Amino acid sequence: MCRSDLKLELLIGRDEIGRRVKELAEEISRDYESPLMLGILNGAFIFMADLVREMKIPVEIEFVRVKSYRGVNTTGKVEILMDVSDVKDKDVLIVEDIVDTGITMNFLVKRVMKRGASSVKVCTLLDKPSRRIVDVIPDYVGFTIPDYFVVGYGLDYNGMYRELPEIYRICD
Ligand code: 5GP
Repeated sequence: MCRSDLKLELLIGRDEIGRRVKELAEEISRDYESPLMLGILNGAFIFMADLVREMKIPVEIEFVRVKSYRGVNTTGKVEILMDVSDVKDKDVLIVEDIVDTGITMNFLVKRVMKRGASSVKVCTLLDKPSRRIVDVIPDYVGFTIPDYFVVGYGLDYNGMYRELPEIYRICD
């Protein structure tokens, strides 16, 4: 598929995503009584919406918005644009689109713990362990992928492509 100048190659199709999201929701539903699911905006909005609708237990839903600085000169700075709400004494499950270097997740897990959560676990749709800088091991992973830059299903490239129902890799 070609969109403007970019060549996109299908990596994970709609049905495969749907099946995996259902499996994850079932697994999480077995492990929890009633978690607070904390989605990370913007990337996780579609995953979060699909995941919560497959849950078999009651859940609370909150969002946090962060900006992670990437690129050659990045020092791994994470800026909070919309902060973590009241998580005190709650079992928090952070829901993320992709864990890459792990810097964002490491920052958020620490922040949620500092705010007095009873427990914090991480669910990510995609994991790129080969890129890890900080030692983060997500508790629930949809798909482990190689070092590709991917878009679709909530993930963007310069603010675009989030609406695609499938996940694509951007080819060189
Ligand atoms: P980390 O802090 O783990 O390096 O990065 C996490 C964030 O970087 C993700 O939430 C996402 O916004 C962005 N990111 C990392 N890899 C990709 C990718 O392959 N595609 C897109 N669209 N965003 C990515």
